[in-house]
Amino acid sequence: MTELTGGPGLPQERRVVTAVPGPESQKLWARKQATVADGVGAVLPVFVRRAGGGVLEDVDGNSLIDLGSGIAVTSVGNSAEAVVRRAGAQLEAFTHTCAMVAPYEPYVEVCEQLAALTPGDHAKKSALFNSGAEAVENAVKIARVYTGRQAVVVFDHGYHGRTNLTMALTAKNMPYKHGFGPFAPEVYRVPLAYPYRWLTGPENCAQEAAAQAIDQITKQIGAENVAAMIIEPVLGEGGFIEPAKGFLPAMAEFARENGIVFVADEIQSGFCRTGQWFACEDEGIVPDLITTAKGIAGGLPLAAVTGRAEIMDAAHSGGLGGTYGGNPVACAAALGAIETMKELDLPARARRIGEVMKSRLTAMAEKHEVIGEVRGRGAMIAIELVKPGSKDPDPQATAALAKACHQEGVLVLTTGTYGNVMRFLPPLVIGEDLLNEALDVLENALAAL
Ligand code: PMP
Repeated sequence: MTELTGGPGLPQERRVVTAVPGPESQKLWARKQATVADGVGAVLPVFVRRAGGGVLEDVDGNSLIDLGSGIAVTSVGNSAEAVVRRAGAQLEAFTHTCAMVAPYEPYVEVCEQLAALTPGDHAKKSALFNSGAEAVENAVKIARVYTGRQAVVVFDHGYHGRTNLTMALTAKNMPYKHGFGPFAPEVYRVPLAYPYRWLTGPENCAQEAAAQAIDQITKQIGAENVAAMIIEPVLGEGGFIEPAKGFLPAMAEFARENGIVFVADEIQSGFCRTGQWFACEDEGIVPDLITTAKGIAGGLPLAAVTGRAEIMDAAHSGGLGGTYGGNPVACAAALGAIETMKELDLPARARRIGEVMKSRLTAMAEKHEVIGEVRGRGAMIAIELVKPGSKDPDPQATAALAKACHQEGVLVLTTGTYGNVMRFLPPLVIGEDLLNEALDVLENALAAL
């Protein structure tokens, strides 16, 4: 193995040999500060040298347990064998022709896989893009041209990207939107069934939220003006919120009755993350369109819109695309990632991770009042932190807890509308010992908080 080989062969251990960040990372950070725009932040100022399995190794020789997967991307692990093999072969064959100029088989194969793996047995087609935001933008284009309508309905706490249209679709101002307006028109936000924070309590949350959302759509927009309704089946940046059971089916049913294209944004929750191939399967939802990215290609940039053939075909030839969309190396990587997900049965691994994490986090919540709720599914798990004895969000405690974990060699991410959710997105190939060790670190950090 050469010095820089990552992938599954990297020693699977937590190792803290310097302060975190160490001296070499600090030197690189100074160079970054001098030359990279301040708008591009970093959760942890540690520079990575190699990564694989469940760890990231930094330039100082520290080995951090990875509970972030580059924000739900490296579900198959970094430099997974099949990803490297397939993308490597593609790199040697050719790197780019532009799918809109002269096509190639890996693009078609990815679309075949998407048709087979996404919910529903109707005829499906896909179009490939580079980023999640681009996929969401294109889902809106497709829904508009198909319906001949303009309005788009999104939900409280939703996140859909950082481009102009997707900023408009995104709920949270800071840091995503602040100062970047004006935003795209014809975007309407309605209530989400957020059980933990629903004012009348969780019991009637689904029915009440659906009734309010439908009332607002009907009265304020007119259902007949709505092209698309876009929702994350488990919300990512909003705080790993699982909409109360019954809410998604009610909204999907309303969309169906009113000719509204129902779009599941599974960019964060998809590709085995929640213990199923797609999170919307949990309540038997069959979306008209589904947007995917992140986990699809094991770390290479690829995104897709997949859906009912008649909707996908509504856009005229040349209306969808982009220079790099469905790049052949990214497509080959996706085929390697999907191969790995099937071979290792990663939905089952995600479910196992969920069992381990939920039982340990629930035990921690019993001891530490700062944990208001443990929630999530599969390997998309979170704790919401509150001021003890209340439901008041505690973003300071969340930041302090994250920092303490980082210093002990565990990479965790925070999220949520109120900045008070710690989220856990381990690679699905992480070893159980390593996962438990990361939870030990978290437990100690909680005790010291
Ligand atoms: N939708 C969801 C649900 C996401 O989680 C994200 C990324 N966090 C996006 C869209 C945007 O994806 P990208 O950053 O690849 O543009």
